Amino acid sequence: MRRDDAGALVSQWIRPAVYDLNAYHVPDSSNLIKLDAMENPYQWPDALLDAWASRLHDAKINRYPDPSAENVKLKLRTAFTIPDSLSLLLGNGSDEIIQMIAMSVAGPDRVILAPEPGFVMYKMIATMVGMQYVGVSLQQNFELDIDAMLGAVEQHKPAVTFIAYPNNPTGNLFDVNHIEAILKASQGLVVVDEAYHAFADSSLMDQLGRYPNLLVMRTVSKMGLAGLRLGYLMGEPAWLNEIDKMRLPYNINVLTQLSAEFALENMPVFDAQTQQICKDRETLYQSMVLLDQVQVYPSSANFLLFRIEGRVSTDIFEQLKRHGVLIKNLGAQHGLLQNCLRVTVGTPEENTVFLDALKTML
Ligand code: PMP
Repeated sequence: MRRDDAGALVSQWIRPAVYDLNAYHVPDSSNLIKLDAMENPYQWPDALLDAWASRLHDAKINRYPDPSAENVKLKLRTAFTIPDSLSLLLGNGSDEIIQMIAMSVAGPDRVILAPEPGFVMYKMIATMVGMQYVGVSLQQNFELDIDAMLGAVEQHKPAVTFIAYPNNPTGNLFDVNHIEAILKASQGLVVVDEAYHAFADSSLMDQLGRYPNLLVMRTVSKMGLAGLRLGYLMGEPAWLNEIDKMRLPYNINVLTQLSAEFALENMPVFDAQTQQICKDRETLYQSMVLLDQVQVYPSSANFLLFRIEGRVSTDIFEQLKRHGVLIKNLGAQHGLLQNCLRVTVGTPEENTVFLDALKTML
């Protein structure tokens, strides 16, 4: 066999659904102010960095990690008041948890359902594991179209419905009554994805225990620990015990475990950063609202969705890049997002650079 035969072999073996998939694209951000990925813009204070480094000094890097990361779980329970009655499952980012959930229910006729526009990984992972995916369009104001959602639940009987709360990329919190109606109507799992909970004043956590099919998923990425890759899922032990079987051994590495434990012992630092980001989100929102041609949407997350009247989002995106600012162009993602862009809230200085650059385009 020769090297040129690879193409033929690939099309023989790679599943057509995978062949058609576009890999998750992460743009190059070198030399740019990075406001595209909902990261917390703040580094840790020096004293904290030193204390962290000395904690890592003791890392047993020659050993496999604690397979169930018990200490991390204990610290998460304390930091986020997770009751003992709920089970906890940890993932290499919540992306991996979405994958574990999907793998645990996968089948060619089984459906994953999610409102759209929403987080793109729900669809990608459904395809990866060989499931059907059904997206239900939101209303024009980005609220759930509850009739369409309930209709889709009845028609497709989804194994899992993912609902991001707040939603990415629209930033809003859906009506809780709608989410509860979906929970009641669904025979399958409803996973409420609270990736942005730190910036919102509402959670479905207190509904766990009331619905046998509700799971709540979160991540430490957006609160300032995106580099660690740590997500967590909360819910009834009966569900989590099964989903846990999909978890590869030692999925949370030694450095992540130690660093997460350390960070969770220092929650006031992250709480202060979160408060600052929420304050700056409001400042940025108010500044953008004042710009005549800019339509900006209110947000309960650490980003803002906006469009500029009569302007193509790709042009805005490219011009901002020339000003040294990287944001996310969403114009092609969904019909409701025509010419929309999403900017992550950065430091006040970064937000000013973004805003000043935007103003030059109006
Ligand atoms: N859920 C939502 C709604 C998200 O926006 C993201 C990240 N963009 C994730 C989950 C994944 O987060 P992570 O894998 O970093 O935990």
